[in-house]
Amino acid sequence: MVKVREVMALMEEMAPLHLAREGDNVGLMLGSPEGEVRRILVCLDVTPEVVEEAIARRADLIVSHHPFFYRPLTRIDFHETQGDMIRRLILANISVYSAHTNLDSASQGVNHFLALRLGLKDLKVLVPVKQEKYLKLVTFVPEGHEGEILEALARAGAGHIGSYSHCTFRVLGKGTFLPLEGTSPFIGTPGSLTEVNEYRLETILPVSRLAAVLKALQEAHPYEEVAYDLYPLENQGPVWGMGRLGFLEPPLTLKDLALQVKERLGVTQVRVIGEGKGIVRKVAVCGGSGAAYMANAKAAGADVLITGDVKYHEARQALHLGLALIDAGHFATERVVVPALAEYLGERLHQKGVMVLVSQQEVEPWSVV
Ligand SMILES: [Zn+2]
Repeated sequence: MVKVREVMALMEEMAPLHLAREGDNVGLMLGSPEGEVRRILVCLDVTPEVVEEAIARRADLIVSHHPFFYRPLTRIDFHETQGDMIRRLILANISVYSAHTNLDSASQGVNHFLALRLGLKDLKVLVPVKQEKYLKLVTFVPEGHEGEILEALARAGAGHIGSYSHCTFRVLGKGTFLPLEGTSPFIGTPGSLTEVNEYRLETILPVSRLAAVLKALQEAHPYEEVAYDLYPLENQGPVWGMGRLGFLEPPLTLKDLALQVKERLGVTQVRVIGEGKGIVRKVAVCGGSGAAYMANAKAAGADVLITGDVKYHEARQALHLGLALIDAGHFATERVVVPALAEYLGERLHQKGVMVLVSQQEVEPWSVV
């Protein structure tokens, strides 16, 4: 069993809240961070069928991609669909957490998994939203405590460089302090100047991990007042953003790619703009409704954009741009994230006795006749 807030922390590690588009509604939608979780149901949309499924499968928490509350609520009428879902969820003590545009832009989010599912190589972000910034953290640790503090900092997300963790540097020196009245120092006595052998321990951390790293430092450090310095760095961090660009190895004709998309996303049809025999190699993808990124895809040299929800005038615009399009639908281009999200949560939570389930009740709303 874990608390809802532990699942929230894992979700925010995968899909940091600061990546959400302005005006989006993400995070805990319903419930309490202190609620207990033994079973999680992951889905794209919270629908009446999914609520029914969550109750039947005894889930305590639903994690969805599309926000359960998107427009402001004006009433909770039990005779309306949403009001009834809210009533049933509260009665069954089920919480709801949603990660939307922050999950689209996450390094391991909707677009990443869509590109992987479609077999693209050498992935890059199509439209950058933000770039991670780094800080240098320097702290002063009494001799003998450096190992446990190093470990705590590394576990909280500091000291990661590429594929290396626990990257720190330390040098031994003399620390001084004079505990004032009312203190209870770990070393020394109030009113007298104390000299201690201390390590200056330094490491790097992404700004997005700052709160967690400082909390870990405070908890692991033996001193009553922990001395530390934070320096902004110019190091360029990873880029987060919408869509992905990648390559097909080997290149395919547009028609063969369309057939491959159909198969890999498990859809009965895709709509295509462009010459079927044309060869495509550089591919842009954007899960959900990505037609707004057509010009970005073209400018980045993509031969084709794979997305969903393409409207008539957008299709015309693609023709004018000379960009091929494959519309595989909003649902199929985003649903790829659901099993990936379930696997991520499952890996981190199964040792704590939490079962993570993938919704089996949600399906593509469209049918083809
Ligand atoms: Zn969507």
